[in-house]
Amino acid sequence: MAGKKGGPADRLLIENGLILTLDGENPVLQGYGMLLEGGRVAKIAPRRELPKRGVRRIDARGKVVMPGLINAHMHFYSTLVRGLGKAAPAHDFNGVLRNLWWRLDRKLTLDDCYYSALLMMIAAVRHGTTTLIDHHASPAAIAGSLERIARAGGETGLRIGLAYEISDRDGPQTAAAGLAENADAVRFCRERGGEHLRALVGLHAAFTLSDETLDRAAAMAADLGVGCHIHVAEAESDQAYNLERYGLRVVERLRRHGILGEKTIAAHAVHVDREEIETLAASRTMVVHNPQSNLNNAVGIADIVAMKSAGVLVGLGTDAMTVDMLEELRVALWAQHYGRRDPSQGFLEATSALFSGNPAIGERLWGLPLGRIREGGPADVILVDYDPPTPLDAGSVLGHLVFGISQSAVDTTIVAGRVLMENKKLRLDIDEERVAARSRELAAALWMRF
Ligand SMILES: [Zn+2]
Repeated sequence: MAGKKGGPADRLLIENGLILTLDGENPVLQGYGMLLEGGRVAKIAPRRELPKRGVRRIDARGKVVMPGLINAHMHFYSTLVRGLGKAAPAHDFNGVLRNLWWRLDRKLTLDDCYYSALLMMIAAVRHGTTTLIDHHASPAAIAGSLERIARAGGETGLRIGLAYEISDRDGPQTAAAGLAENADAVRFCRERGGEHLRALVGLHAAFTLSDETLDRAAAMAADLGVGCHIHVAEAESDQAYNLERYGLRVVERLRRHGILGEKTIAAHAVHVDREEIETLAASRTMVVHNPQSNLNNAVGIADIVAMKSAGVLVGLGTDAMTVDMLEELRVALWAQHYGRRDPSQGFLEATSALFSGNPAIGERLWGLPLGRIREGGPADVILVDYDPPTPLDAGSVLGHLVFGISQSAVDTTIVAGRVLMENKKLRLDIDEERVAARSRELAAALWMRF
């Protein structure tokens, strides 16, 4: 791509916009421009101090310039369920898994994995989400599935976290194949993933994992020097099962088997008690809150206020309900207000999950200061149409993000200095119409098999 238009070697000057660095003491910069070079933010400075020649200019007048957003828990494959009316109604969380997700994922082919990921990634580009941490399941097409998702990542230019959800629910051979797929992904991400791909060891949830499989996964993750990515206490039933079968609450069981730690993502943590929250904090495990999914499945509202005050790193994911992180943030807020019957509660916790928690998660996994704009940091930048109707400064920026910027169109998406969308037009080497048409064919066939 060197020297090619839109390639990382371009020197891009973003000028005339209001820069939201969402970093440190100066989260809002007025009258500044930004030079992107070599995939990094080379310089942020007043306009007169930035080069006038030898750069391609992007005029951000009437727009805010802000960091690309991060989705810390995602399932690309669930795209193909959109509109599927064949699942029997479920009256609890285990019913949702039995009637829908576990019937669907067993029927997925490698092509299904690739096209569903590609379409969700294109949607992510359109919504300014530049890093997505996926959690994948396709029990009848395990080997090579993460490679397919990685390929879609390469074609869209996004930063993707990969994991295959190991589970004992389909027998020991399938669990073994899941372990191998994770190991393979860690290897190929290291060999050729550069600064775009990372892999974790994925696990479904404690209630579908034997002690032996937990031990194997933990040993493998330690061996490979990566963390795990697992659903934790999403529903009360996860606790009930582990208490009855193992005499342990979920977080304690995972701790004993070496799954927790500073590189591990625990998705949900809706039903954790005070002691478990302390264990999550002490082990520095990353918790990812997914409020839309939790409300949709009627499993409850995670107590991110208690988790934050106990020192847990809390980030925000969508569990595939959307790729729009500002939509998810708004729901996180309403859920905290409503859950506590107190509209003054949860604002800082919800906003910091997206704007501090997710960057911290990104940094632990990628080793890069993702999710904020700073000199020397990665050039993952989005432009959003937004001329603020009220003063926008350090004190008001979060209010603008939640109530205004979230309602505005993303105009331009840049990852590692590469322009993926500009003036709302994709600049990818992808025939979007053809991809969507192929996806509809694959989905129709999948629905027949369902
Ligand atoms: Zn999930």
